[in-house]
Amino acid sequence: MKSVAVIGAGVAGPAVAMSLQQAGFEPTVYESRPHGADEAGAFVILHVNGIDALRAIGADKCLDGLGFDTPRMRFRSGTGRSLGVAGTGMPLADGTVGRTIRRADLYGALRDEAVRRGIPVEFGRRLVGASSGASGVVAGFEDGTVRKADLLVGADGIRSRVRTLIDPEAPPARYIPNLYISGYARTPEVDASPGEYQMVFGRKCFFGYTAAPDGRIWWFANPPYPDEPTPGELRELGDAHWRTMLAGLLGVDRGPALRIVETTRHALVAWPFHDIPTVARWHRDRMIVIGDAAHATSPASGQGASMAIEDAVELARCLRDAPGRRQAFAAYERLRRDRVERVVATGAKWSNFKSVGPVTRMIRDAVMPVMIKHHAGDGGASLGWMHHHHIEWDERVPA
Ligand SMILES: Cc1cc2nc3c(=O)[nH]c(=O)nc-3n(C[C@H](O)[C@H](O)[C@H](O)COP(=O)(O)OP(=O)(O)OC[C@H]3O[C@@H](n4cnc5c(N)ncnc54)[C@H](O)[C@@H]3O)c2cc1C
Repeated sequence: MKSVAVIGAGVAGPAVAMSLQQAGFEPTVYESRPHGADEAGAFVILHVNGIDALRAIGADKCLDGLGFDTPRMRFRSGTGRSLGVAGTGMPLADGTVGRTIRRADLYGALRDEAVRRGIPVEFGRRLVGASSGASGVVAGFEDGTVRKADLLVGADGIRSRVRTLIDPEAPPARYIPNLYISGYARTPEVDASPGEYQMVFGRKCFFGYTAAPDGRIWWFANPPYPDEPTPGELRELGDAHWRTMLAGLLGVDRGPALRIVETTRHALVAWPFHDIPTVARWHRDRMIVIGDAAHATSPASGQGASMAIEDAVELARCLRDAPGRRQAFAAYERLRRDRVERVVATGAKWSNFKSVGPVTRMIRDAVMPVMIKHHAGDGGASLGWMHHHHIEWDERVPA
């Protein structure tokens, strides 16, 4: 049995560890954060393709009771005019639809499920270096710990260390000039149906919100922000700054956006938008990257977590079926590269659509109802390539 060091316990890490275990490997997960210190605050939409990929490894049930179904989106202009309603994608055959879930809950559920299956997860282990040779790969951690394995999978996110160990020339993440600020509020008299996102193309800022079953409003704003802020700047600017900024941007629109922000009681945190269109080298010797480490997409695509899970399942199938790791890595790249790069390109296009000048805004608001009607009319089939990607676990990967 081959041992695999999996770096990162976000989404891709636990998913690949469970997939590898199911394929007969012996994975161990190493996570830099201490136990319980997951990225709090933001929530994600897990689309049906991500849920379907979890089913391939029998792990979809670990999300039961977390988050809530969000099958529809209603689009509006900043004037409050309805631009149309569309599904968040075609449901699966059994009626399963996309689900909105806190990021920390998603991480926790996948990791707990991996642990329940007997997979070791070591916290506080930040990978700093690795050397790959004929007899295996040796991983070195910041705390001085060294671990040996047959393979190393980098599931260490957008600022991946493994990506630069594979290729020191690998591109860094690209800044998309938007921030992402989200929150949870109890706002009286907001017209929001459970399960339906209200997506507002505001005059100065995109704003989305939906009602959770307990009546709270889950919201996010995408303010334009031309120059990339450093993590230090983001921390320093802080809650008061984001509230003042959002008041200026959202106050010019009709609708409850500003009231929702004002009734949010917790501190606001901002994330920058990033993506990575192409990482030329995904693997070298015994090391490979998956998930955001290999192809981060803008949050606008709503596909980052789902792509990470798909990657995990496909990599395990390839390692299970190919005669050796070189063939497995090549087969994996053949299965994944076109698809993930298409998703990243689509996410970048959708991000650009959110913050536009006054002329483009007029054109956008005129064209949107036609586009949405077309999308709604085909039941979401035009995005079928993205949402209806099924992985058949038992099918052999062709050589
Ligand atoms: C604001 C925001 C909103 C988003 N909205 C959505 C959405 O609606 N839908 C969606 O599908 N996706 C969304 N995403 C993207 C989604 O969160 C990511 O695509 C997904 O988490 C990628 O999973 P991953 O496992 O590859 O990386 P991550 O989730 O980033 O996990 C990487 C893990 O590796 C650990 N790590 C990093 N470096 C090291 C190291 N050197 N050693 C050990 N461990 C390390 C990190 O601590 C982390 O736990 C959003 C992202 C952001 C920022």
